[in-house]
Amino acid sequence: MSLWQDLYSILFWKDTWLGNTSLSLKFPTLFNVVCFKEECLGDVLVRKAIFNECNFVFRRNLFDWEKELQTELSHLLDVSGVVARDEREDRLSWFGCNSNVFSVKSFYNLFRAHPSNPDKTFELIWRNAAPHRVQCFGWLVYLGRVKTSEYHLRLGIINNEEEALCKFCFAELETADHLLLHCKFVWDTWGNVLSWWGIQGPLPNALDDLYRWWDDWNFKAKKRIIWDCLLFAVLWTIWLTRNEAVFNQTSPNWCEMQETIKIRVALRVKTKTGDKEDYSMDDFIFKLGSIIDDS
Ligand SMILES: [Zn+2]
Repeated sequence: MSLWQDLYSILFWKDTWLGNTSLSLKFPTLFNVVCFKEECLGDVLVRKAIFNECNFVFRRNLFDWEKELQTELSHLLDVSGVVARDEREDRLSWFGCNSNVFSVKSFYNLFRAHPSNPDKTFELIWRNAAPHRVQCFGWLVYLGRVKTSEYHLRLGIINNEEEALCKFCFAELETADHLLLHCKFVWDTWGNVLSWWGIQGPLPNALDDLYRWWDDWNFKAKKRIIWDCLLFAVLWTIWLTRNEAVFNQTSPNWCEMQETIKIRVALRVKTKTGDKEDYSMDDFIFKLGSIIDDS
């Protein structure tokens, strides 16, 4: 359609751009709880293009019947044929700060300022040294909105349970908790990662509990930065490995994966801290334990 030139001047919720009424009137319940009521259509469509869904920020968790409304809205957008598709695809017009340029800081400030800010888990996610796309993924994990095979099964995109099995163990349905936490291969990986820190014992059983558990550890200074970054390096590496298995039919190399996690943490921590210390990347990868002890 030819709307593109106007996408950034149309208010997603308030303007009448789809059908005969605004989406705020068509979905008043969702409009009432969405945080950013002045969001423009272009921003929503770009997010949808990147994450395959609109990822609205609501001021509280939605009830099941509200989630159905959200699904209905999403389907309405799908069938509308309106998509973010031209050279301006990556442009974001962010209203969270005066420059209109999105930054994690401005998003974080908006969230912190909101009275319903749920807990300090947001600090763990948005003050993390991880790259922005990894922070976004961590946020989706926390919200329980990762596009696993089980999610696709529920939507009818996948038609049988066999297709929705975990691509690591082929024994359980691929839910977010299973894929990122419970799967026996992933569980072992978490165990190995924690052993680098000398931590033994069971992990929490759910991802949102894992975030709180992780945040409760009391580390100082650089050790804290490494620890926080590690959580998202593990989740992100598992997710990319899963995608490789799903889309390219590759078998995970679990030993290599642990080295990849260390490299991701090392790169981000060195970038974040401007670290000039005399340990090399090899030190970080092969002697992480001693670096942690020195931090
Ligand atoms: Zn599994």
